[in-house]
Amino acid sequence: MKTKADILAELMHPNPDHDFGGRVLKNYLSWEEAQPFLTKEEIAKVWVPDVQWLQKPLTREGIIADLDYFLEEIAWPKVKGHRSISASLNLVTVSAVLWILDDAAVCNAFEEAPYPMFGAPRLKVVSDAYGIDLPEGEGVQRQMLGKPCYRGCENCGDIEEGDV
Ligand SMILES: [Zn+2]
Repeated sequence: MKTKADILAELMHPNPDHDFGGRVLKNYLSWEEAQPFLTKEEIAKVWVPDVQWLQKPLTREGIIADLDYFLEEIAWPKVKGHRSISASLNLVTVSAVLWILDDAAVCNAFEEAPYPMFGAPRLKVVSDAYGIDLPEGEGVQRQMLGKPCYRGCENCGDIEEGDV
């Protein structure tokens, strides 16, 4: 797993290959550590650091629990809702979490999984790897296999007849 020092180094000198945009990483810093990496707007929102800046614990259990919540409450609903921009941004968030967890096999499987539909196959890789429940529903189960949520769904996009 990445350490606090790794996170600070990444924020100071972002690896252009990652393209996290500083997402997620700042959550694991203290208020004092995070401030150099926050925008003026983000700083202005924090009137009482103990209340408005809640540093998350940099532990494997905590990060996987956060990932579970993120997938269930944010990422999968965007897949089901065919929200393509949100879905792709959510994959960036997941990739930042994977960078912190630093499990090479999971990172590779995540990168190699196909994107359509809306990143569902990649989210499935991560869910399976960390024992996180997959969403129920035939439509989203089909999306995990790269298929439209139902045959002919225009919002899922064009797929060759033979692939459905
Ligand atoms: Zn669809």
